[in-house]
Amino acid sequence: MTENKSERLLEVNGLKKYFPVTSGFFQKVTGHVHAVDDVSLYVNRGETLGIVGESGCGKTTLGKCILRLNKPTAGNMLITNRDGTKEDLMKLDRKRSFEMCRRIQMVFQDPYASLNPMKNIYSSFDEPLRIHGFGDKNKRLEIAAQMMETVNLQPEYLFRYPHEFSGGQRQRICIARALAMNPELIVCDEPVSALDVSIQAQIMNLMRRLQREYKLTYVFIAHDLSVVEYMSTRITVMYLGKVVETAPARNFTQICQHPYSQALISAVPLPELDVEKNEQILTGDVPSPIHPPAGCRFHPRCRYCTERCRQEEPELRPVVGDKEHMVACHHFDSIQQAAGS
Ligand code: SF4
Repeated sequence: MTENKSERLLEVNGLKKYFPVTSGFFQKVTGHVHAVDDVSLYVNRGETLGIVGESGCGKTTLGKCILRLNKPTAGNMLITNRDGTKEDLMKLDRKRSFEMCRRIQMVFQDPYASLNPMKNIYSSFDEPLRIHGFGDKNKRLEIAAQMMETVNLQPEYLFRYPHEFSGGQRQRICIARALAMNPELIVCDEPVSALDVSIQAQIMNLMRRLQREYKLTYVFIAHDLSVVEYMSTRITVMYLGKVVETAPARNFTQICQHPYSQALISAVPLPELDVEKNEQILTGDVPSPIHPPAGCRFHPRCRYCTERCRQEEPELRPVVGDKEHMVACHHFDSIQQAAGS
């Protein structure tokens, strides 16, 4: 699925996004939601980086930072240009910022909300194409028609309205519209979670085909680990604003080491009903991101928690023998040894 695994398209370094919490008549700032807290990751050109975690873990906020819909509190996001130069997404001048809108596209969870119900589908295609100078009206119509065919929809449908389509068809249209801009990176935030399971598979297979044909790079955000595993080259697991594990997607369910990742796997239903799972049920709620727990943020819910976990924040460190596999847990090696004995 990858074009060139070694070329980094995007590097995120020490990214933080804190939202102020205000109260009272004067809207005094009384605290901050630590939505994304010191996250570093990278996306190679041509791959899919899956980002998974429960609601409130910061994955959508992270995606919106990459799209520049959220302004980060700290950190940088370096994108590599075709000539090998790098630019910080937060320090672009107006012209480069405008170009970046074309290069980084988005597909969201609710395709109906992404389309203007008052305008036909062609208008949704035409406006961004016109703004970004994709030729005259005939050329833009030709591009829109071609993109509709690419996602297996008839070009005549361009003159219908969003309510005339099913949810799956609307998501195809949103994907086609993103594709029409000839992007390098598409940030997909829960793109299939609002769809029926059979339609989910169609959309995921479509996205994989388009990735091969158009040499796309995806950041694929979802709460469903099985969906993320199917789509991704590598997986990053987030918990309460932090990355707790990142690893190759292949065999992720077998190789993941962080207790939270393992608990997420336990929540995935297995198709073989007679297979017994090593259940690791998550107890309790995700703590408040306004007052995240000291030490390891997962410690109030972790059955392996020690005094060290309560006091000292674990850093991401590599699993022996696999430099692409990083885990933020003080005890992951001893937990694995105990599980294997
Ligand atoms: Fe659990 Fe401690 Fe590892 Fe955190 S650092 S996941 S609390 S064992």
